Amino acid sequence: MTGLIVTDASASTSIMPTLVSNPPNPWATTDVTYFDETRETRLEIFEDDTRSILSKNASPSVGFEFSVNPYRGCQHACAYCEARRRHELLGFGAGTDFDTKIVVKPRAAQLLRGAFEAPSWKGDVVVFSGATDCYQPLEASYRLTRACLEVCAEYRNPVAIVTKGALIERDLDVLRRLNEEARVTVSISIPIFDPVAARAIEPLVPSPQRRISIIRKLADAGIDVGISIAPMILGLGEEGMTAMLAAAKDAGARRAVLSFLRLPSPVDHVFVERLREVLPLRAAKIMARAKETIDVSSASLVRREKGSRHSSVVDALFALTCRRLGLAYSTAGDDHANTPNAGPMELRTFTRPTRPGRQLRLF
Ligand code: SF4
Repeated sequence: MTGLIVTDASASTSIMPTLVSNPPNPWATTDVTYFDETRETRLEIFEDDTRSILSKNASPSVGFEFSVNPYRGCQHACAYCEARRRHELLGFGAGTDFDTKIVVKPRAAQLLRGAFEAPSWKGDVVVFSGATDCYQPLEASYRLTRACLEVCAEYRNPVAIVTKGALIERDLDVLRRLNEEARVTVSISIPIFDPVAARAIEPLVPSPQRRISIIRKLADAGIDVGISIAPMILGLGEEGMTAMLAAAKDAGARRAVLSFLRLPSPVDHVFVERLREVLPLRAAKIMARAKETIDVSSASLVRREKGSRHSSVVDALFALTCRRLGLAYSTAGDDHANTPNAGPMELRTFTRPTRPGRQLRLF
């Protein structure tokens, strides 16, 4: 990672969420604790000089192999975000640092082109983004996701996108091209349908209703789009679930995915602190439900979802509603409930563009 390039993002400062403390970072040698005055929340952007852009995922709970993450950290600031853990590996905190210290990869498209030129690349689906949101607000100016999608369209490489960001609508032209020449599926993530509760837990994400309108816009453009209820926060998310699925179907969603809240350390610290601050009257019930569902002693994220009577009821209601509405679905009990596209993408369309002077390979 190279130096800090922007420190004053005053436009963002006015809508920043309140501070959430950064839990002690086990990878850091020092910790700073603020006892009285809270710091101003300011956006800081760092450039990453990484030499590779394709991440290979080995986790059995993730149903895809390759992903591209042009950004690390996420301004959307969801309290439950599991990617907070990885921010600690950069030497940052998992709390407010995750929302305000964003690492960008300016060479993302160039690196992706290099990866596609490697003889070993066979044209597997590339997922945007396996870790943080590729359409978070910074994408409006950096355009890294767009540039990477343009490379995918040029090489006819299939793509799956998971996002909460309305900025995806800007790239409809590239998505249409990808749809015609390869394949693209999009999952719009909406864990909570109540706009007030959603704003409290996901402070800088477009409202749930706005996200439904993203589904409509993509579906109208002929893109294969679905809704992802991930994570389902019991005591909060199940109230509007059936109405949300119906709204998504009406907007043109073809499929739905459900997976339950997981709170690996230090995400648990951030989630509980935010919950107590923004939804104090509901916090105890939500945490009780979460404890019924999560086996915190398990090291495996797959086995961590041990389930409970309540989660089984919600799971069954989800499946029943999807069947009634005619939505393809994947529930928390499925092997790949976290698969963003939840559909087979075996189609191989990858082709290296021919350029003058490119030598043809015989084998
Ligand atoms: S939008 Fe996704 S990546 Fe960003 S904070 Fe929320 S859950 Fe994390």
